[in-house]
Amino acid sequence: MSIGAYILSEYIPAKPLVGNLELCFTGEEHTQIDASAQLRCGEVLKFPFARTDSKPRSVVIKGSKVLVAADKETETKRVVELTLESSFGYQPGDTIGVVPSNNSEIVERLLHRLQLSEQADTTCHLKLSLNCAKKSAKLPAHIPSATSPREILTHCLSLNFVPQKQLLSALSGFTSNEQERGFLACLSSKQATEHYNSLILEKGLVFMEILDLCENCRPPLCFLAEHLPRLLPRPYSIANSPLETGGQVLRIIYSLLNHKPGVTTRMLEELVKQINTQQPANVVIYPRLNNAFRYTEQDLGSNQILIAVGTGLAPFLGFLAHKEKLISQQPQREKGHSWLYIGAKTPEAILKRDQLKAWHKSTVLERLRMCHSRGDSPGYVQEMMAEDSEDLVKFLIKHDTVIYVCADGAKISQSIANGLCLCLQKVLHLTEEEASRQLMELKAHGKYREDVWL
Ligand SMILES: Cc1cc2nc3c(=O)[nH]c(=O)nc-3n(C[C@H](O)[C@H](O)[C@H](O)COP(=O)(O)OP(=O)(O)OC[C@H]3O[C@@H](n4cnc5c(N)ncnc54)[C@H](O)[C@@H]3O)c2cc1C
Repeated sequence: MSIGAYILSEYIPAKPLVGNLELCFTGEEHTQIDASAQLRCGEVLKFPFARTDSKPRSVVIKGSKVLVAADKETETKRVVELTLESSFGYQPGDTIGVVPSNNSEIVERLLHRLQLSEQADTTCHLKLSLNCAKKSAKLPAHIPSATSPREILTHCLSLNFVPQKQLLSALSGFTSNEQERGFLACLSSKQATEHYNSLILEKGLVFMEILDLCENCRPPLCFLAEHLPRLLPRPYSIANSPLETGGQVLRIIYSLLNHKPGVTTRMLEELVKQINTQQPANVVIYPRLNNAFRYTEQDLGSNQILIAVGTGLAPFLGFLAHKEKLISQQPQREKGHSWLYIGAKTPEAILKRDQLKAWHKSTVLERLRMCHSRGDSPGYVQEMMAEDSEDLVKFLIKHDTVIYVCADGAKISQSIANGLCLCLQKVLHLTEEEASRQLMELKAHGKYREDVWL
């Protein structure tokens, strides 16, 4: 890509962000480089949606299993199941936060760019600069008081975020190359909004990719520490029942975007390679606050319609495993009916198909509907719902039926909601408006619960 093509003849750069911090080195080697950097920041640093009864901690990844192999032709994502050590109570549908770290090669490259390779592991701390003019300037809470450049870039700062115009404008001041300066300054301007939209918002160029385009741009680390966002934990759904494992371990399932893996999933892929080697395969996790998207012992007597696409099946694997265990432990209890609608790119990409079929044969799953969107006789979940609309709506309006939707994409979630509206329209003879009002009511009364991931 030629950055010169994005420089307009006239533009006014956005007001640049200014730096208010300094980085001070002590000269000692920093030995504590592990995934716990954010854990050393003390109580002031909050972990999003963290439960108060258990702190984030490093746990061992005990095992991994590839559930689906990546396939370029059908754009099928690689899907992996991880077994993690667990020390907290949970129910199927609950989620954990996984604290990510940036890829070591990317960090090494950035250290080199910032001319910090030799001091990468030297102890340092941040402080407000003496001539700091901004009254509200403060030290970032997500960087420990004693740290190192490598630790800051690996564990504390996000490098894959959408850069704002003021940041681009500031970056233009950190390059000695005229074309790069013009590109960054112009991209930050109002006049180049079209370029900003196409490159940053549509093409999705993130901070590191912008730096890669401007190889002479060397922002000081103290500036990055102040203005780059915190590297935030990502949520993952627990995909098993505590009754299966005695609660000592838990399982999560992640999918990997083949052409551009995300920060956490890339880290998990690297850690998987370390299982059963000399290097420990540890990851920092914590339990997140639970909500109504869960299946507990109390739900055994009620009905569920489970609708999932792709890896969105993960929490429902936990729901159904839990139901199976509860049935075998309490055979005398009355049990409700569960239906599952699942869609994936190919039949092979439907997670744990054999297990689903076994549950369908037993009393765990009353109805199992599977479809795939690629290859022979393709279909979508909404189409299966439309085919079943009479039964589906009758089942849904029973007082103890709850519909759970889990999809790895907001668009898919919306299509499923639209599909349900069409079923309501057809069966209950409603107008489009009445059906969407009915859906809102279902949501408000907790009869329609959804988990949208991305
Ligand atoms: C409540 C909740 C539960 C979740 N449970 C799971 C779960 O059980 N399993 C699971 O795999 N994910 C789950 N997610 C999504 C997960 O939290 C991450 O967003 C996802 O794994 C990507 O994280 P990353 O750090 O690798 O990517 P990032 O670095 O955050 O990726 C940047 C961008 O790349 C794209 N991207 C990256 N990876 C993928 C992918 N695999 N598919 C599509 N787009 C992608 C997205 O557009 C994303 O915004 C859940 C999300 C929520 C909100």
